[in-house]
Amino acid sequence: ADAIRIRGLSKTYASRNGQPPKQALKGVDLTIPRGSFFGLLGPNGAGKSTLINIMAGLVKKTAGQVEIWDRDLDRDERGARLAIGIVPQELNLDPFFTPRELLEVQAGLYGVPRSERRTDEILATVGLSDKADAYARTLSGGMRRRLLVAKAMVHFPPILVLDEPTAGVDIELRQQLWTQIRAMNERGTTILLTTHYLEEAQELCDQIAIINHGSVVACEPTEALIGRL
Ligand code: ADP
Ligand code: ADP
Repeated sequence: ADAIRIRGLSKTYASRNGQPPKQALKGVDLTIPRGSFFGLLGPNGAGKSTLINIMAGLVKKTAGQVEIWDRDLDRDERGARLAIGIVPQELNLDPFFTPRELLEVQAGLYGVPRSERRTDEILATVGLSDKADAYARTLSGGMRRRLLVAKAMVHFPPILVLDEPTAGVDIELRQQLWTQIRAMNERGTTILLTTHYLEEAQELCDQIAIINHGSVVACEPTEALIGRL
């Protein structure tokens, strides 16, 4: 079974400030198997964020079909959304909330009953138990990123999507982040990661799709792809 199935996905941004309309996605087909660690690799402007933002419900698609965990985004938007947790690119966090408070608020937003919340367990998963009650403004960039990962997990989605997750994270913390994401993948979570670093995709992902100018130009197991480069 597939975790994510995308067919003929197109997005044209309307013209703005006198700029012409921009076709950011041009008929993208993409199939992401359940359990995979999947990399969406492409240069800046390729359309990666647009694709993620459509799945997140932040951007409306122009055409095409998106199924997340067998739920069609048009017919069952709530079901589709509940199947993914999205870790955004920006490190925006309310500075005067603690990690524990942020996770509680997020769980509330997703309607997770109090009895089913696993705040301490999730904070431990991302290595933030020590910081559970510290203000977010005192956390380093790497800790903030891990807190955003924790936030994306409060409703236990089977798919975790990370949009350029290592932007602004130093090398040591990057390794910690990857160790934790790998462990989640080994426990069964499907991971979709966007990056413009080939080495990062190569090191982490078992399958890579390359997107350029809004089109998928390759999609293969990592070994096969690297062999051809
Ligand atoms: P990313 O960080 O994913 O590369 P950005 O959000 O920085 O993408 O945007 C990339 C480019 O998209 C920007 O250089 C800008 O030209 C264009 N862009 C983003 N938002 C808008 C907008 N609201 N209107 C027009 N162009 C935009
Ligand atoms: P990536 O995440 O791969 O850097 P994006 O999805 O951010 O790519 O951008 C794809 C294309 O769409 C770029 O050419 C960008 O300038 C344009 N774009 C992104 N957001 C907007 C927007 N809100 N309005 C107009 N153009 C946009």
